[in-house]
Amino acid sequence: MKKNILIVPGDGIGQEVTEVGKKVLIKIAEKFGHEFTYDEALMGHVAIEATGNPLPDETLEKMRASDAILFGAVGHPKYDNDPTAKVRPEQGLLKMRKELGLYANLRPIKLFDELLGASSIKPEILKGSDILFFRELTGDIYFGEKGRKNDGDTAYDIAEYSRYEVERIARKAFEAARTRGKKLCSVDKANVLETSRLWREVVQALAPEYPDITVEHQFVDSAAMMLIKDPRRFDVVVTANLFGDILTDEASQIAGSMGMLASASVGDSTGVYEPIHGSGHDITGMGVANPMASVLSAALLLDISFGLKAESDAIISAIDQVLKAGFRTRDIADSTTAPEFILGTDAIGEEILKRI
Ligand code: NAD
Repeated sequence: MKKNILIVPGDGIGQEVTEVGKKVLIKIAEKFGHEFTYDEALMGHVAIEATGNPLPDETLEKMRASDAILFGAVGHPKYDNDPTAKVRPEQGLLKMRKELGLYANLRPIKLFDELLGASSIKPEILKGSDILFFRELTGDIYFGEKGRKNDGDTAYDIAEYSRYEVERIARKAFEAARTRGKKLCSVDKANVLETSRLWREVVQALAPEYPDITVEHQFVDSAAMMLIKDPRRFDVVVTANLFGDILTDEASQIAGSMGMLASASVGDSTGVYEPIHGSGHDITGMGVANPMASVLSAALLLDISFGLKAESDAIISAIDQVLKAGFRTRDIADSTTAPEFILGTDAIGEEILKRI
């Protein structure tokens, strides 16, 4: 298969981990006989420094011209401590989502058995959990009208969803459920919110088209509780932007470390694949960042954008073997890990490459 992949490392540890993600893609192409070509582009703080713009036009053009994008993270302490800064790295992120029409954020939450102890949830409750979240990314309370009323002491944010917006993400979730455990949980607050009543109506109307999928509707408060109480009951979860924002961060704790989770943002054109973590100012340049989230993002890219399931599985299996062999990065090591098994970013990357 011939494909053109754009690498956008961004800032901080984004650069360190994406380097490993790219090496894994090169290895996979070699092993499975694909012809991947790579281009690179600036985004975030590095792009502001070079051009004054967090998402330069040149980067956007390269994004549109590529078949898939492996992204790192953006952010720099300079902006975190200055909320008044007019040009900010995360503006690049929001613009990218808008310009590429990335309306669905997919976040697989799967715990490797060897890391059961790293989570704050009891292993017997966690073991076997495997959830795929679909969070709607371009609508809801984040994008509706917002403001202050005349007195300045009353504020409002309008939540809006159209039938079309709900249907397109619900379809993606139904289709994903077909390739997994055939269960879909739609999360809303239909007892209180009109947008949620529309959401539920649309999902219910689609259900007859997917008779092989068991659909369940859950209120967001109860879903938040069940995620911790019994995560194994979930297979595919689909929800609105705000609920998804909160629930996916809650669910990330199931996996124990930010360094282990990948995500995909997809729409109708080029998909973006990235770790869920940020630019990790506190560990930038130390060579200790866990690159597995970036490597798992590369696996998602191969599976979702290119339909290369065997190649994607080969990456996941290599990570599984590295963990089984006892190797850890600092963030996932515990008191039982011998110091010689705690590896840096590049060294653990080499262990993964060896096993592909
Ligand atoms: P963060 O995810 O960068 O870091 C949170 C904590 O987790 C830190 O202690 C960090 O060292 C650790 N961590 C994160 N990734 C790790 C990895 N791969 N290996 C080992 N440890 C890891 O979040 P933050 O500190 O809140 O934010 C730092 C910067 O990143 C900010 O500027 C923020 O705006 C930005 N950010 C960007 C994105 C993105 O680009 N999508 C997402 C979140 C935060």
